[in-house]
Amino acid sequence: MCSGRIDASFVLRAFSKGADGVFIGACHLGECNYMTHGNFQTLSMVSLFKKIMEFVGINPERLKMAFMSGSEAGVYTESVNDFTGKVKTLGALGSSEGLGEDELKSRLEAVERFIPYIKLVKKDKLALRLDEEEQYDRLFTKEEVEALFKEAVTYRIDPEKCRACMICLRKCPVGAIAGGKNLTHTIDQDACIKCGTCFEACPPRFGAIEKISGETLPPPFPENPGNKREVRNGQDASGQL
Ligand code: SF4
Ligand code: SF4
Repeated sequence: MCSGRIDASFVLRAFSKGADGVFIGACHLGECNYMTHGNFQTLSMVSLFKKIMEFVGINPERLKMAFMSGSEAGVYTESVNDFTGKVKTLGALGSSEGLGEDELKSRLEAVERFIPYIKLVKKDKLALRLDEEEQYDRLFTKEEVEALFKEAVTYRIDPEKCRACMICLRKCPVGAIAGGKNLTHTIDQDACIKCGTCFEACPPRFGAIEKISGETLPPPFPENPGNKREVRNGQDASGQL
């Protein structure tokens, strides 16, 4: 697979499935055979992912990207041997970090939920093409990654304003919105990838979706199905507008 195709979710999946380290071998920067030069973007992603690993308490040395051409078999074997030696020294994922299986799983799941949001918020920086490989180490800061998680946006549907038009439900790319004809809609915060599509799609005359920054909301369903107020012709059952 071309290194330019490697997404942060692939790296995360490898760790979630038990890999102790992830090695990405790529063509030399600036020597892409195509116009895309996707290895620059992958290097940006690796730079960001390493900072995320640090933030969630996983040793970033478990992820490595190295550059080589098809004729540099020696470079390849040396890079892989170095990396496998490093990972062997670190031991199983979680062991050198002092993380138990459950804690590790929950941290990886938390990162997984944030990946689409992070890619959206950082899309400009992730697409940058810098001159020197070393510049990528400084592309993302620890503080920036911390803010990404702590100030992440959350979307919430105001049941008093929702008119059950179903537009947001139809447009949500991951089916995170529950509702139906004449029922106020709710967002499953565990399934929501924070793409903001519903916020943009809710008609301004209703303005029923709130964008909240830095506040984690509990999942409203299925634990609380009772909040599905019935709405008919713009009024709820009590006649409230
Ligand atoms: S932000 Fe809205 S549209 Fe996007 S995933 Fe969450 S609920 Fe769905
Ligand atoms: S688009 Fe707005 S008014 Fe329509 S169902 Fe969604 S939240 Fe309710």
